[in-house]
Amino acid sequence: MRRTALLLVAGLALSGCVVDASVTQAPPAPAAAGGVPGGMQYLYGSGEAAALSVQAYNALVDQVRTRMAKDDPKGPHPRNSVVLTSDSTLSVPRFQPCGDKPAAAVFDVDETLLLNLGYESDDAQRSGGWDSARWDRWEKTGAMKVAAVPGAIDAVRALRALGVTVVFNTNRAAANAAETEAALNFAGLGPAKHGETLFLKGDVDGKSAKDGRRGAIAQRWCVVAMGGDQLGDFTDLFAGLTPPERRAGAASPVIGSMWGRGWFVLPNPVYGTGLGSTYDQTFPPATRWTDPQEKH
Ligand SMILES: [Mg+2]
Repeated sequence: MRRTALLLVAGLALSGCVVDASVTQAPPAPAAAGGVPGGMQYLYGSGEAAALSVQAYNALVDQVRTRMAKDDPKGPHPRNSVVLTSDSTLSVPRFQPCGDKPAAAVFDVDETLLLNLGYESDDAQRSGGWDSARWDRWEKTGAMKVAAVPGAIDAVRALRALGVTVVFNTNRAAANAAETEAALNFAGLGPAKHGETLFLKGDVDGKSAKDGRRGAIAQRWCVVAMGGDQLGDFTDLFAGLTPPERRAGAASPVIGSMWGRGWFVLPNPVYGTGLGSTYDQTFPPATRWTDPQEKH
């Protein structure tokens, strides 16, 4: 996960975790009962979000279990990773070959496997903008103030029991690797080992975009599933696109075929690249309606 300075520039009172600095961030949903922003109520407080998360993890494990039962690394049929090759486009995606590599599942960390309850409980009481120094202090000291996303613990256990290595690919800081390992262990999601199964911002290619790390992971493992709460957790090809372009690309026939079939999305209405569409981008003109009672 990377929280960008873009939010500071925008001066927004947003607890913003973004993986794609090219997408403008919008303010969070207005605070409602108890002063908790609507997105936080949904993600951290609702049964509906818990159900969505468990649904994603159930589907992921079922899909991997089915694949592992029929995958034969020594067999005649080539196996493909769910990681795109570097020459892929959204309209023509290609996938890394697996050869006889061992299987792995790759996950983002924040709001994919871990809920940052401590940080967000503090942020919910603030009206200021994003503060990267505060997030760094959170990474350093918040390991015991997190919780696993519903369904995540059972999923990583099931994957490991199937012989699938669980790999973490996050934009948390490499300088805080030990604390992030501790947070994952505290939440019941470990083991995670930096340099082995934990990839952090800047690892491999010095970038915050994740394709370089995904490529390195795919060199070592046959990636059979990926989980994330941002499109950048699956490919960097959405970077720089407008919200309508991102939405169209995600739902296009070729990319759309990946959701629930190798790529699994967790809900995040609190921060990130899913927020930021304007009124015009959100509501196409042809769909707009005005209450007839208010017409003169
Ligand atoms: Mg995330």
